[in-house]
Amino acid sequence: MKEFNLSSLLNEYDNFTILTHIRPDGDAIGSSLALKAALRQEDKKVTLLCPSSIPAKYSFLPGVEKFKNFFPGEEIGGLAFVLDCSDLDRLDFMKEKMNKFDLVVNIDHHKTNEQFGNVNLVDPTAASTGELIFLLLRDNNFDLNYEISLNLYVAISSDTGSFKFENTTPQTMKIAGSLLEKGVNPAFVSQKLFDEYPLSTILLLRDSLKTLRLNRSGEIAWMSVHEEMLKKSGSKPEELDGFVNYLKNISEVEVGVFFYHTADGGTKIGFRSKTVDVSSIAQTFGGGGHSRAAGCTIYGNPQEVVKKTIDFISKCLIKSH
Ligand code: 5GP
Ligand code: MN
Repeated sequence: MKEFNLSSLLNEYDNFTILTHIRPDGDAIGSSLALKAALRQEDKKVTLLCPSSIPAKYSFLPGVEKFKNFFPGEEIGGLAFVLDCSDLDRLDFMKEKMNKFDLVVNIDHHKTNEQFGNVNLVDPTAASTGELIFLLLRDNNFDLNYEISLNLYVAISSDTGSFKFENTTPQTMKIAGSLLEKGVNPAFVSQKLFDEYPLSTILLLRDSLKTLRLNRSGEIAWMSVHEEMLKKSGSKPEELDGFVNYLKNISEVEVGVFFYHTADGGTKIGFRSKTVDVSSIAQTFGGGGHSRAAGCTIYGNPQEVVKKTIDFISKCLIKSH
């Protein structure tokens, strides 16, 4: 692996592309925007790419309108930063053109990261990719202005569930504190990220909760949502983010599993747990993630996908008892 030295890369390259994962979350979006703003301070050309469109709730972020969900017309090349992606499949169709870049720098905090970059800056002890970007920019003496600070705060508060998840460390809080000193308003951010939804989301939650099931021991809870249910409530898929927490939050439940069955025959699965490692469960099905939050997509008959997944988790829980 190449030694990572941002200042020498800045001397070497003028053309940068920042890519982040399909169905982007606050960490993916905030980290990318912060890194872009920093590279712009150095007068670099920076293109922001994400295979999905950006959820409406992030529209308050400075620079967010610059994300493209398609490859720009001109030839791509130069240096690519891939942020918050455990593997290149997370880039969906954008994976195809990764060989066009001269250098791929992988910056991530997933323990299932596949070290796919020419340079890999992967630290699973970091609560978010935003923390890693903060340290990178601070250590290279960038001006962490309000725009960068707000984007990083969104990244960090998003992946820690507003500093509630067990990935929150003293370092997370110290970084967040220094971002507040730059003028970030935590109440405003938490309102935007966690406490404000369109009516369609609540209608979809009502319908989703009707699908709640528990296994015999009561340790696994799941919900199964079909694409037609989204049409009925007028919701976008991104509005499902966070529904899985209602499952994990049930006192008796160890693992919450959220199934989203799409019209193309795929089922996007989100796992959350209190103590068991769900990243290894997600990996078994071709996905990945963190110990307490992971995901994957499985193709096949929706009912069979649900049965197969719940049976597998039940076996894992029996083994762990
Ligand atoms: P969520 O359930 O919120 O979509 O995802 C939870 C975590 O699992 C996130 O850290 C996300 O990066 C990871 N994750 C979700 N889906 C996939 C997937 O299909 N592949 C991989 N490698 N990780 C996933
Ligand atoms: Mn992340």
